[in-house]
Amino acid sequence: MVEYDVIIIGAGSIGVPTALATASDGLKTLVIDTLPSVSQADNKHAIGGIRATHTQKGKIMLCQRSIEIFRNWESQFGDDIWWKQGGYCFVAYTKEHENTLKLNVQLQKSFGLDIDYVSKEEIKNLIPGINEDNLLGGTYSPKDGNASPLLSLHAFYRQSREKGAEFKFNETVTDIFSKNGTIIGLKTNKSKYNTTQIVNAAGGNANTLGKMVNINLPVIPESHEAGITEPVKKIFNPMVVDMRPAIDNTFGNSKNYYFYQNKEGKIIFCLTPDPSIIGKDRRETSSFLPQITKRMISLMPRLKNIKIRRTWRGLYPMTPDGNPILGIVEGINGYVNAVGMCGQGFMLGPGIGELISRFIRNKLTPQDKDILNEFSITRDYNKEEELK
Ligand SMILES: Cc1cc2nc3c(=O)[nH]c(=O)nc-3n(C[C@H](O)[C@H](O)[C@H](O)COP(=O)(O)OP(=O)(O)OC[C@H]3O[C@@H](n4cnc5c(N)ncnc54)[C@H](O)[C@@H]3O)c2cc1C
Repeated sequence: MVEYDVIIIGAGSIGVPTALATASDGLKTLVIDTLPSVSQADNKHAIGGIRATHTQKGKIMLCQRSIEIFRNWESQFGDDIWWKQGGYCFVAYTKEHENTLKLNVQLQKSFGLDIDYVSKEEIKNLIPGINEDNLLGGTYSPKDGNASPLLSLHAFYRQSREKGAEFKFNETVTDIFSKNGTIIGLKTNKSKYNTTQIVNAAGGNANTLGKMVNINLPVIPESHEAGITEPVKKIFNPMVVDMRPAIDNTFGNSKNYYFYQNKEGKIIFCLTPDPSIIGKDRRETSSFLPQITKRMISLMPRLKNIKIRRTWRGLYPMTPDGNPILGIVEGINGYVNAVGMCGQGFMLGPGIGELISRFIRNKLTPQDKDILNEFSITRDYNKEEELK
């Protein structure tokens, strides 16, 4: 039987860039996915936002590296993944949000991020047609951006195969084997494979895989909906984030929402329902569209005649603090967590992939060790990330 240096469970936002990193670093790599091709679970539900402007040091570092990879991809490998460095704007309409954003900016600048709190006038220039009533200002981080999750994953997939990674689709991992506390292989519904390193990158299904090695992963899938409009002429560049909660007695309350205009001129949008919708149901609801369109038209009245092309629903694999769970579990040598990506798996993927590869090859830098410590399964989950 072939022996792999590493087997990655899941060909999604995390599994594919991880395979690219491990195969590029010379590890004999196999990726197994239950679905028929790459990016068929929640990667393809992501809207494509990519930012390094978080409030957790580890996420900032990982996403800074991801941005470098997304930004340089086309010049390095030739594929157009629709990378656009349009920036992010968090808009402030209340004093409370203004204060929070200003505090965040101080922290983010201390990590070297290019972000500023800018005036109402600057926000109006960045987002022409934004509702000015009570607008106070907002943040602008020009180095953040967006890319197509599907095009990106397919580009990473092609490149990882060129580097020697193998992929098995339509195959479900059903058991993981260890001996004396060390991983020795796994079983699928079709075959058995030998390896001493397994990466759990199973997204919304991470907990099922965790149970195979007797760990309880605090990863709970929550469903979120998104949609896309017809293409229209260029209106604005940044991802716009409105952090205000909204009460809607007819269609349901929401926490925040965000949207951007993609390379084709289509506006892609997403909303955080309140309360959260826990579970793995990916069927669209009829309440999402009226909920978010009301909010978007009130923020940008000029969008009122735009036609919506389609909506969809997918999962955020949530953790209690909104941060991923990465690295080892004490007592199970060779099992590696790359789970709990919440609403940020697409942007974290390339950075996490390289980190996991260095981890498996024993090449961790001091900064990597800090990140693994910050996102270890045994951390204190009480420090919540603000926008998960
Ligand atoms: C509406 C919406 C908008 C979003 N927008 C963004 C965004 O703008 N930016 C961003 O960064 N993130 C965004 N996200 C979040 C992002 O989609 C997720 O964080 C990310 O896809 C999770 O990556 P993953 O690799 O863990 O899971 P996935 O991409 O879902 O991959 C997991 C894979 O594991 C496979 N698998 C599971 N169990 C098994 C098994 N037993 N055997 C074999 N294979 C298995 C699955 O089939 C799947 O292919 C959004 C999500 C949603 C729903």
